[in-house]
Amino acid sequence: MKAIRILLVDDDDAIREMYATIFQKNGFIVSEAKDGVEGLTIATKDMPDIVFTGIVMPTMDGFAMMEALKKNVSTSKIPVIISSHLGREEDQQRARDLGAKAFFVQGFHTPNEIIEKIGSIFEAVEYKIKFMPGELDADNLAQDMQISKDFKCVKCGSDLILVMKILNRDNHEFSAKFVCDKCSVEQK
Ligand SMILES: [Zn+2]
Repeated sequence: MKAIRILLVDDDDAIREMYATIFQKNGFIVSEAKDGVEGLTIATKDMPDIVFTGIVMPTMDGFAMMEALKKNVSTSKIPVIISSHLGREEDQQRARDLGAKAFFVQGFHTPNEIIEKIGSIFEAVEYKIKFMPGELDADNLAQDMQISKDFKCVKCGSDLILVMKILNRDNHEFSAKFVCDKCSVEQK
């Protein structure tokens, strides 16, 4: 997995420095912005893998920046995590409405929890691909993987699908496994 590029947006230098240190220690490539306007500019230019932003900031707050990111096709898919001084319910609701991937309240979550959450966002990206038995090397593949030749589930007989996970976007590398979409039994 290549390093996650994270854009850190907060007007508080000390907060930004704290998170930058945590993220760098965990192998992330960190860029920083001090408000929403700068965050938006950098996000549009650099296309980070994820944006980690505070809410209250001068010129453009975190929510306004999220809205702007969403409106732009090229940045609309960038996952955003909110980091807040306060855990106000209305802010959490707004974050959910805007599609934030997580909402962290400063001082209530350990760096490890934050790192794990970010990791899970990228691991969770899976694609289900329909597989055509009988094509090209399918028979050999079934034999070598010791799954049924017609690519049916060993338990319920449904068609198996390929679940694909991106490992590296740059060279189109991915991993894939056969699963039953109906009963989720591991195919052996
Ligand atoms: Zn099944």
